[in-house]
Amino acid sequence: MHDESDIRAAIIAQCRAMNASGLNQGTSGNISARHGETMLITPSAIPYDAMTPDMIASMPIAGEYGAWEGPKKPSSEWRFHLDILRARPEVSAIVHTHSTYCTSLSIARMGIPAIHYMIAHFGGPDIRCAGYALYGSAELSAQVLTAIEGRNGCLLANHGMIAAGKNLAQAMWLAVELETLARQYWHALQIGGPVLLSDEEVREAAEKFGVTGYGLAG
Ligand code: 13P
Ligand code: ZN
Repeated sequence: MHDESDIRAAIIAQCRAMNASGLNQGTSGNISARHGETMLITPSAIPYDAMTPDMIASMPIAGEYGAWEGPKKPSSEWRFHLDILRARPEVSAIVHTHSTYCTSLSIARMGIPAIHYMIAHFGGPDIRCAGYALYGSAELSAQVLTAIEGRNGCLLANHGMIAAGKNLAQAMWLAVELETLARQYWHALQIGGPVLLSDEEVREAAEKFGVTGYGLAG
């Protein structure tokens, strides 16, 4: 998808889909996509049903930090979207939600260990939880960059989660998978706790999936 108007429409379609599926609610969450040298990002606090493609804000990725164009101001979380796109050239779309199970684990300041081989899609054997910082702050973005390093997703303490993909469809697929892992972990904790997969078992699954850029500590 290379046409800017198609990307703007696709961002809104994904926003509506994530609320319709129950992954997100209200005007929580936000979505961005890379279009060349530009980041396209949902406007702040606009209900997804009322959002139109022209309202999607445009921000330079490498240019003046924080500059934007559009009839509505960009998402309050533009910093972590922009900082991830700057730091990770292979990432072209980012989904942020306040999905229930990821957020619940983040409230307990828990990440997700290797409870299921699907975690291999996230680039390593665990999902980290970023330290708490005020929403929209530069400090939150710094925490996020640390937590998401070498991964395609992370939790945000007392807040929610982020999934980063090579395109919008993949980022949303990862967001659904991340919430599923959180739900599975939550349920396993109710029945005595999980038996975790080893690093080698997760690596083996990553290889079978053909996940590139997979990195394990040690
Ligand atoms: P925006 O409406 O500004 O995107 O904020 C939603 C949100 O999730 C803040 O963390
Ligand atoms: Zn949020």
